[in-house]
Amino acid sequence: MTNLATNLVRTAERLPDRTAIRLDAVEVSYADLLRRAQAVAGSLRAAGVQPGDRVSLILPNVPAYPVAFFGALLAGAVVVPMNPLLKAGEIDYYFTDSGASLAFVWPDFEAEARAGASGTGTTIVVCDAMGPVAGQLPDAEPLTTVTDRDDEDDCLILYTSGTTGRPKGAELTHRNIHLNALRCVETITEMTDADVVMGCLPLFHVFGLTVGLQAAVIAGATLTLIPRFDAAKAMEVIDRDGVTIMMGVPTMYAAILNHPEHDTLSAATLRLCCSGGAAMPHEVQRGFEQAFGCIILEGYGLSETSPVASFNLPDRERKSGTIGVQIPGCEMRIVDEQGNPLGPGEVGEIAICGDNVMKGYWNKPEATAAAIPDGWFRTGDLATVDEDGYYTIVDRKKDMILRGGMNVYPREVEEALYSHPDVVEAAVVAVPDPVLGEEIGAAIALRPGATATVEDVRQHVKDRIAAYKYPRHVWRVDELPKTATGKILRREVKAPSDVTGA
Ligand code: AMP
Repeated sequence: MTNLATNLVRTAERLPDRTAIRLDAVEVSYADLLRRAQAVAGSLRAAGVQPGDRVSLILPNVPAYPVAFFGALLAGAVVVPMNPLLKAGEIDYYFTDSGASLAFVWPDFEAEARAGASGTGTTIVVCDAMGPVAGQLPDAEPLTTVTDRDDEDDCLILYTSGTTGRPKGAELTHRNIHLNALRCVETITEMTDADVVMGCLPLFHVFGLTVGLQAAVIAGATLTLIPRFDAAKAMEVIDRDGVTIMMGVPTMYAAILNHPEHDTLSAATLRLCCSGGAAMPHEVQRGFEQAFGCIILEGYGLSETSPVASFNLPDRERKSGTIGVQIPGCEMRIVDEQGNPLGPGEVGEIAICGDNVMKGYWNKPEATAAAIPDGWFRTGDLATVDEDGYYTIVDRKKDMILRGGMNVYPREVEEALYSHPDVVEAAVVAVPDPVLGEEIGAAIALRPGATATVEDVRQHVKDRIAAYKYPRHVWRVDELPKTATGKILRREVKAPSDVTGA
């Protein structure tokens, strides 16, 4: 009943001519998207793909992505989205672990994918922007029915690093993703078929996949794609296509706000922005809202929770700096190390239970039992909850810095750094210290033409937070390392040798 492929069939019946996917001048209607997906599904079946088989996608944000995605689902397969920037060794691991029998691949990544598939026997199907290149799959009749799948059957295996170890595949069911996307449509965005949704988040990440693509398909909205995020391109697309809803991670909003030509963006049609995936710095939120007259609502979630767990919902008071309240169908609580619920104001780990929580980690019963020991999924995120049920993230458990016995949460220090007008990006990390064990270090990127010195920024932070928290070491970088989604990768930030003494 909640098969994701059925959502496409329904919308294609209701709105056949409505543009489903746009990529610059290319527009694919809902009827056309369904036709192309049905052709792929027929060919997959002819190639031997059976219900439950895993089919991988190594594609950028182009129309071929939803074509292959829904084609695989129509055939009853389980989709394994992969970051296109993975190297052969990683691809080998993902193919082996998921048992992917076939992978749709973009030409630029073909050599790497073939190298990764050399030991796994995974069939590589090369795609152009619209779908598989002719001759890559067997000719067959289109599959015009939706292969029956149970609500609790997997639709996705999404690889995530979780809190420890090698990437694990989060098994997400049709019910998980359908209900989460439905709630994005009904409760968070009030999305309709009049909306144009910005598709700048990668579709291989759960945020872009559920909150962008699946929600748009349910609502009958247009998803306008950007293959790789770039602030200038995003600004062009917002005004050109009349984007009404933007979904992004904070660095995307910051990049637009800090673009030297951001005042050329009218954003007249933009009615709602959603931010998630990482903490939204207060200055970026306020600056963006003032510049473009559009509200940013912050939410929170993980790959393992489809993703959305909490949001600043439009019909409730917005509490800036919080990740909002639990969404319908999802229960959140703060627990201690033993799993006991904690009261308002107490710092503990966010635990989640509900119809958005994954079935488990693919083929990893021990990791699943550790992550969901008692029916509540442990997120690894430390937070507090207030009397009204609004959650505030303190930080990730494992990113906490222990400075001479005092806990310092990088996020709080980063907020203080972002409040300096010249700071565009900031990441706070531990620097080894012979006396204190760990000392606070900060890598900062300054806006072009900035006049502030590193010492000015350090002093600015020192004036705003407790003495034990301010960064003793601050160094400049041109840009911080980020995931393909645009989240800052704190773990890859390394202090220069004159700081570490290396
Ligand atoms: P992923 O599974 O890649 O989506 O990453 C999930 C992680 O992103 C969570 O465990 C959080 O640490 C982080 N995250 C997501 N949303 C937020 C938010 N609004 N504020 C702070 N961290 C967030």
